[in-house]
Amino acid sequence: MEWEAVIGLEIHAQLATKSKIFSGASTAYGAEPNTQACAIDLGMPGVLPVLNEAAVEMAMRFGLAIDATVAERSVFARKNYFYPDLPKGYQISQYELPVVLDGRVTIELDDGTEKVIGVTRAHLEEDAGKSLHEDYHGMTGIDLNRAGTPLLEIVSEPDLRSAKEAVAYAKKIHTLVRYLEICDGNMQEGSFRVDANVSVRRRGEHAFGTRTEIKNLNSFRFLERAIDFEIERQIDIIESGGAVVQETRLFDPGRNETRPMRTKEEANDYRYFPDPDLLPLVIEPAFVERVRAELPELPDAKRARFMSDYGLPAYDAGVLTASRELADYYEAVVAAVGGEPKLCANWVMVELLGALNKAGLELYQSPIGPAGLAGLIRRIQDGTVSTRAAKEVFEGMWAGEGDADTVIEQRGLKQLSDTGALEAIVDEVIAANPKQVEQYRAGKTKLLGFFVGQVMKASQGKANPQQVNEILRRKLAE
Ligand code: ADP
Ligand code: MG
Repeated sequence: MEWEAVIGLEIHAQLATKSKIFSGASTAYGAEPNTQACAIDLGMPGVLPVLNEAAVEMAMRFGLAIDATVAERSVFARKNYFYPDLPKGYQISQYELPVVLDGRVTIELDDGTEKVIGVTRAHLEEDAGKSLHEDYHGMTGIDLNRAGTPLLEIVSEPDLRSAKEAVAYAKKIHTLVRYLEICDGNMQEGSFRVDANVSVRRRGEHAFGTRTEIKNLNSFRFLERAIDFEIERQIDIIESGGAVVQETRLFDPGRNETRPMRTKEEANDYRYFPDPDLLPLVIEPAFVERVRAELPELPDAKRARFMSDYGLPAYDAGVLTASRELADYYEAVVAAVGGEPKLCANWVMVELLGALNKAGLELYQSPIGPAGLAGLIRRIQDGTVSTRAAKEVFEGMWAGEGDADTVIEQRGLKQLSDTGALEAIVDEVIAANPKQVEQYRAGKTKLLGFFVGQVMKASQGKANPQQVNEILRRKLAE
């Protein structure tokens, strides 16, 4: 039996405002517990929330970037529930009238095709506090610093059909919010959290199956594994005659499985109603146009430009535009080299990203900046170093030994391009191998590789291979 998965994601992106969504308290991460929640965040009697305009503008940037409608009028509602990390008893969110409606995002699939994923809505809401289970033996600590931090909840249509598509979509949103500078995207710190709604149906069936919701996936790897597990689990249940129960589940990375958390409350259990303390949010068209005019170049446009301007393959263009920082770095390298866009792409993608990855560093922490890397690439281009030696130069630069020229000098990595010196080595090699010379001259020309190898060895790898080839061919033909 052929099965098809149906997946929709709800992504919570923490907006990078300095202060909370309805108060002036700081949103900085990592402060002492309970030092950054004020009376408004806690919903004390008599306080009045005031909407943070920066959060609204960030939501608008997102909406415009995904070709959505920015609602002229949206409404904040109270979502009522009890939980220890929500002492005021309700979360301020948007329900029936969200600020962003009906957008779309294009994802690229492994086979190179593209697929458009609908974004149903994105709404503004406040975050709750955090329960801390680890540090307090037998008890739970509550840290309310996060209470009132602005979130943008981004809800997709159930358009995704595999874990891979879901990951591609989540990564696309992640890239987008960072390009727009509305969210730092830090998944470990919880600034970007993904809930996955998953159901399965028999291929060709029209109606959706019953879904489960896997909460709080905080890495792309977990997202993929959790969805794959959940698809298999649901198929097994249905194939053995059972029925999937609609519920909220948690992913356990250690066991690689999802487990039920609590049965999903009906939406109307929350008793949503418009927050009487907040006026409807009205956004003037002129405000929308100003925000639109200030949007940066977006990932899709940048990727297309990298392909047309630099002649890069789609894969390279995708990798290099995954973040604005990396794209800027690459463009700075190409500008400093003054050309060779594909060679620059290779060095950024293979050597630089490889070294960063190995060292567990972010791009901004790289010991080699764009000008430094360009200096090295120029030395490959002008024949000063071979590609192999260049990798060693890179290591030296990475280790802080100086710029490309300094490392080439100090480590003696200059390629031997001096014709006189090369000819002398070639003469030695020819003199030392009379038998092979005889065979070569008798027509066994594939021995050329042997001679090249001998010359490279004799020059300790420093000879310019192209020149060695030429000189050898000439001398052996004599
Ligand atoms: P709720 O209000 O209960 O959160 P929504 O209708 O807003 O539910 O949907 C939440 C998410 O679940 C959306 O991303 C949506 O695409 C997805 N979704 C809805 N129905 C299904 C389904 N049958 N299978 C998979 N995902 C679904
Ligand atoms: Mg929801």
